Formats: sequence, structure tokens, C-alpha cells
Amino acid sequence: MARFIFITGGVVSSLGKGLMAASLAALLQARGYKVRIRKFDPYLNVDPGTMSPYQHGEVYVTDDGAETDLDLGHYERFTGVAARQSDNVTSGRIYQGIIAKERRGDYLGATVQVIPHVTNAIKEFALAETDGLDFVLCEIGGTVGDIESLPFIEAIRQLRNDLGRDQTIFVHVTLVPYIAAAGELKTKPTQHSVKELTALGVQPDVLVCRCEHPLPEGERAKIAAFCNVRKEAVIPALDAKSIYEVPLQYHGEGLDFEVLRAFGITPSLAPDLRRWHDIVDRLTNPEGEVNIAVVGKYVGLQDAYKSLNEALVHGGIANRVKVNINWIDAELFEGGDADIATKLEPMDAILVPGAFGERGAQGKIEAIRFARERNVPYFGICFGMQMACVEAARNQAGIAGASSTEFGDTKEPIVGLITEWMGEEGIQKREAGGDLGGTMRLGAYDAKLAGNSHVSSIYGSKDISERHRHRYEVNVGYRDALERQGLVFSGMSPDGELPEIVERPDHPWFVGVQFHPELKSKPFDPHPLFASFIEAAMKQSRLV
Ligand code: GLN
Repeated sequence: MARFIFITGGVVSSLGKGLMAASLAALLQARGYKVRIRKFDPYLNVDPGTMSPYQHGEVYVTDDGAETDLDLGHYERFTGVAARQSDNVTSGRIYQGIIAKERRGDYLGATVQVIPHVTNAIKEFALAETDGLDFVLCEIGGTVGDIESLPFIEAIRQLRNDLGRDQTIFVHVTLVPYIAAAGELKTKPTQHSVKELTALGVQPDVLVCRCEHPLPEGERAKIAAFCNVRKEAVIPALDAKSIYEVPLQYHGEGLDFEVLRAFGITPSLAPDLRRWHDIVDRLTNPEGEVNIAVVGKYVGLQDAYKSLNEALVHGGIANRVKVNINWIDAELFEGGDADIATKLEPMDAILVPGAFGERGAQGKIEAIRFARERNVPYFGICFGMQMACVEAARNQAGIAGASSTEFGDTKEPIVGLITEWMGEEGIQKREAGGDLGGTMRLGAYDAKLAGNSHVSSIYGSKDISERHRHRYEVNVGYRDALERQGLVFSGMSPDGELPEIVERPDHPWFVGVQFHPELKSKPFDPHPLFASFIEAAMKQSRLV
């Protein structure tokens, strides 16, 4: 049976709990264990799908079509284990299930309560689909002391009792702030946070202490004494230059050793960390740099494009170059041409990422025109592919009113609502004005690539599967008109109905994809499209 590692956070949010979980899982994997990581989100949304990226950052999509927390992206990037719907649950989803059961009469007249009904549902979720795994890491979102997270803490407390002490441990991530005026690190917030946790019946076995300065031995001993944790199990966690250094850093501080020790396991061999050393080596010793413009909408908040940011870094790892990402607000380009040239001329390549809504669309179209006319490598993802088609229709094919129905009624719907498509469960149908939550074309779908296309040579295959998250689709009725302008439809859904990829054979590198390749890229397995795009940027900057 799998062993469970429950991870909580204290003092403040944004301590890098998700990265800690991902790194710990990677370290256990490097010791030969089979791992899976899960995230419990205490908020009431059923999933983050309808939340603004400003509220919640990126929505990470799994192969099985779940819209999940962005931490699942870290989990997948660090372990290579494909995340699933069963790896992320919110209070909203738990309550939705319970209320549906209550309405059906499944509780046979019982009063439905937080304990045991909500806590049991949480426990079932933690335990489901864990056969064959050595370790399941469960990260509880939020901070200890939040009202919303109480049922989750209660559920993990019960699980320790149910499964036994040798099957479960608690890791608590806290902050040890530095008070500049006193020149000291302060342990009191950690003491209080652990006190709060123990009041709920959870005694941490390992404490991960985020700090900006090295933790002196005296402070470490103090935390150990006050928090009832072995001194060696008080793990200091200093800021790292790159997130990909974090696993090596935690290993150096003994995190994986202490976690195994808490389970009563004494490891006989060191973990195989070659993959992480190689990544860090490539990141710290690049042989040049490239400038990439990302012309988008949510540029003020980089969490909104988390996976994209990482996939570009992976493209740099593949080519051993540093990737400078320049986030540019598309609306800047809606004022006049001069601005575009000054901003984009210094760039080696341009990318327009996924987006929803009309704001900034015109500026993106201007950036795409610049890339096309000036032969600058262009990568359009989802919305960025749709806008590449609108750009070609308006500026090349002379279809003046070319637009997307996402922006309102139009006589020339180059991009339109997808009302029908073939899914795993048969034909999927949608109507304008339907529910917004969970109703997009979501998750992994196959595409067929044209044999002589640029993309099939990049992938080295004519059959691909990529993750999708969209409600609109390029209208295949305009295919001939666009292909006459050199924008070739080189990837289609297997039934030939939905355009998946467009490219320009007469351009150094111009690819638009309807899916999100960034979701499957890993530092040790960079996505071929990102590796190829960064290589094109290197050619553009004459690095190769
Ligand atoms: N808004 C567009 C659609 O729904 C694009 C979505 C995206 O870029 N993820 O199709």
C-alpha cells in the first residue's frame, strides 16, 4: 500500500509549497520510488476553470480534460507523471458530490455534516487510484488557520489514525522571516503556526523553513525544541536562482532523507540526480541568449502564463541558451506603428499565447503582421493561432470584416464557436449561451499532420496528441482562401473537421497551434515545438 505525505503551509501563502512537493516527489523518484502528487484546494469553485488568471494564475489542463490548479503543472514538470482529474479537488467539488448524493436520497435520512460526510469524501479522494504507488504526496492549499481548510486538516488527521503512523507523515512548510533592523531571523511565526496545527491534532514530522538568510544552528535547534521535531528534520529552504535548482538544494539539506527516516526507512543508496545536475548545468552555463517577445494580455501577472514561461525555458535548456522573455502588453500596439517597430525589432522571435476575449486582440494581430512581414519567427498558441488566421484574412486575403465570433456577431467568422466535435464519449455538442464551467473542448485530442509539413518534421511524426482548452475554432470553410495566401493547414483533427495547426512554408518559422504544447513540456524533455522555436530565434539572432 502507498505511503502518504501530507503537506501543509503556515504563516503566509506563496511559500513555494507546490514546488516543495514537486521537488520532494522528484527526489523520491530519483531513489526509484513510484510517486503521485495531489492538490486539495479549499475554495468553493468546483474547479479553477472559470476563475480569472489574475485571481488564480494559469489553469492547468490534464490529458483527461480536468481544469486544475497550476501547481499540478509543477508536479508534472518535475516528475514527468501525467496529472489527472483525480489529482486535484476543491471544496466546491466535494460539496457538489455530497449535495448531489443528498438529493438522490443516498444518505438514507441521515443528517449530512462536515464530519463525517465532508471529511470522508476528502479521505476517499486521497485514497482513490493509488494502487502500485510507493508515495502519494497530498498538498493542502491555503494556510493553517484558514476557516476553509479545516475539514482538510481534520481529514488528514483522521487518515493518520486510519492508516497508521508508518504509512503517513506530515510535512509543514513555514516562514522564518528576517528582521533587518534587528539583523535576526525570527522563529516565533513558525512556533505559532505549528502550535495552531497541533491544536488541530496534527504534529508535523518534518518542518521546511523558508528563509532569506541561512538558518543558524541555534535557531534550528530552537525551532526543533519548540515544535517537537528532530533538529535534522528542520529543513532550511533558501531562495534558489532557478526553480530547477530546488530539488538539488532540498537534497543537500536532507529533505528526502528525513522524509524516509520519518517513515522508518533508511536509504542504502544515494538518489540518481544526474538529470537535475544536467539541467542546472545547462541553465547556469548557456552559450548565448535570445530575446523572445510574448505579446499577451495578462502580462502583469506571470503566474497567468506559468507553463508557457517554463516551456520557453525548456526550449533554452534544449539549445543551451538563455531565454530572455519580454512580456509585452498587446494593447500597447493599438496606438500606432512606430511603437511596434521599437518594441519588436530587438526581438529574435514573437509568441502570442492563449487568451480569452477581445481586449488586446487588435494589438496581437499587429504583432503577427510584423512577424509575417519581417520574417521574424512566430509561434501562435491557441488564441495566437486564431489571430494569425484573422490577420491573414484581413491583411492578405482582403476580407475586411474578418473576425472571431468570440468578439460578437460577424459576417466573416474566420474563427467561430465549435458546436460539435468528436470526444471520447462520442459527439459533444455546445450552444451559444450555455454554461461556462467545464464546457470547453478540454484535454488530450489527436491530430494528423501533413506528411511534408514543417511541424511533422519538428515532431518527427504525423500523429500527435496534445492538450486543448478552447471554445472557438478556425473555420475550415476559409481554408482555401487562407492557403492561397501561404497559410497552410498542416494539422487537422482525425476526422478532418477541426484545424489544429497552421504554418507558412515561405517563412523562416511561422507556426500556429490550436492546442497548448506548453502543458506537456518538461525540463528533462523539452517540447519539440519549443525546442525548435528557440532554435529559430537563435538563427534569427545569428547565434547559429
Ligand atoms: N478564446 C479562445 C477560445 O476559446 C482561445 C482560447 C485559448 O487561447 N486557450 O477558443
